[in-house]
Amino acid sequence: MLIDTHCHLDFPDFAEERDALVARAAEAGVGRLVTISTLISKQAQVKAVAEAYENIWCSVGTHPNHAAEEPDLPVEAYLEAANHPRVVAIGEGGLDYHYDYASPEIQKPVFRRQIEAARLTGLPLVIHSRSADDDMAAILTEEMGKGAFTFILHCFSSGPELARVGVDLGGYVSFSGILTFPKSTELRDIAASIPRDRLLVETDAPYLAPKPFRGKRNEPSYVAHTAAVLAQTIGVSEAEIADMTTQNALRCFSRMPAL
Ligand SMILES: [Zn+2]
Ligand SMILES: [Zn+2]
Repeated sequence: MLIDTHCHLDFPDFAEERDALVARAAEAGVGRLVTISTLISKQAQVKAVAEAYENIWCSVGTHPNHAAEEPDLPVEAYLEAANHPRVVAIGEGGLDYHYDYASPEIQKPVFRRQIEAARLTGLPLVIHSRSADDDMAAILTEEMGKGAFTFILHCFSSGPELARVGVDLGGYVSFSGILTFPKSTELRDIAASIPRDRLLVETDAPYLAPKPFRGKRNEPSYVAHTAAVLAQTIGVSEAEIADMTTQNALRCFSRMPAL
């Protein structure tokens, strides 16, 4: 069984066919899904998806590209949002310097408050980091010094140095369909260097469909294609990668019940 550790099932892209999509995932061996929040102001809709299916859980958080929409939420707002049986993570929070929806000065405190929420709840923080390797490595290192927290570098597409720092700090590294693209040679090299007990797989659906669906709308069943490439990359069988990444996900998302 595989777990899609990161998808966005509350997005309107999926509204009409969520049942069919969850069924297709199950047929492809993707038995559990984590649907990820991008705004605390929209937490009700991700929670509604998680409540509607016994094999879907969710996170609560503020995406860096939405940081300017809720820049001043106190840590308590995240703690309160997390106090729900289907919530297994904080985030996705982080830094995105590729887009310019919010300045770094707005993104950083919003990110740090979500780190504090992860620390206080014991839930893992789902981290989105794009074109921000140096600041991300610095903040993670500094914050870890203030007190431990668990985190996932989701949809990993950064450089080897941030991967190394993340692993050294005890983090998990999650790979998406980007891993399957022919030009992602450096990314596959990074994947091969990650300790096996830190590897996760995800779709980030509706974005970033893996080969052979590249350019189409992504969906959780496709995570099997990313897992197959990850298996090949680190030299294990597809059954082994499924077992490995599922055990890692259950350890990381510790509020999710055992199988
Ligand atoms: Zn993201
Ligand atoms: Zn996402």
